[in-house]
Amino acid sequence: MRTRKGRPRKILAQRRADSNGTNLQGFLKTAESLAEIGRGFYARGWVLGTSGNFSAVVAREPLRLAITSTGLDKGGLTPAQFLEIDDKANVRRGDGRPSAEALLHLAIVRSENAGAVLHTHSVWSTVLSGAEARRGGLALEGYEMLKGLAGVATHKHREWLPILENSQDMVELADRVSEALREKPGTHGFLLQDHGLYTWGESLAEAKRHVEILEFLMEVVVRCGAAPNA
Ligand SMILES: [Zn+2]
Repeated sequence: MRTRKGRPRKILAQRRADSNGTNLQGFLKTAESLAEIGRGFYARGWVLGTSGNFSAVVAREPLRLAITSTGLDKGGLTPAQFLEIDDKANVRRGDGRPSAEALLHLAIVRSENAGAVLHTHSVWSTVLSGAEARRGGLALEGYEMLKGLAGVATHKHREWLPILENSQDMVELADRVSEALREKPGTHGFLLQDHGLYTWGESLAEAKRHVEILEFLMEVVVRCGAAPNA
């Protein structure tokens, strides 16, 4: 059920009863933005079949993330489907379970001081993360669109997206993610093999832009029929 302004009644009731100590207004606003971005990504075909997950930092001390709960159809994503989790992925607000991949979001936030983390399962990232796995990563170089990545000022930039072996053991995978990010400071994202893309940003707007840039470039690479780092 929704109120006239469109907010689920449950969330409004929760706001009145809030005793968590974090900023509920901030959480709701962030969840609305994440839901809108998620629906947009679904429309682009990047998060079909309940795949993908999205998070943003709502507090740093103590750390709190707004994050999608697991198993959702991203085409109809609503703010009420977001959880607030702490630095151990325990749910502090909302109903449902966080995705197992919440540990990866937390690892990225810690390693990169990111404000938001977005994860997609596009056809393009799935194709390239498998085809280029033996090289350990995917190089993107020479494209004007690279200038959409934070801190990149020229098409001559070479962006290296590490490709990590996929795993269902998220504790182990989160450790490998942290290690890969330590080894390659300044990277804007990575691929999980035969799985998808993780990228992030200082802000949610920056993270969204990075998804758009990297998905665009991966589609270009696949459509051109060859990765440029042969
Ligand atoms: Zn995934």
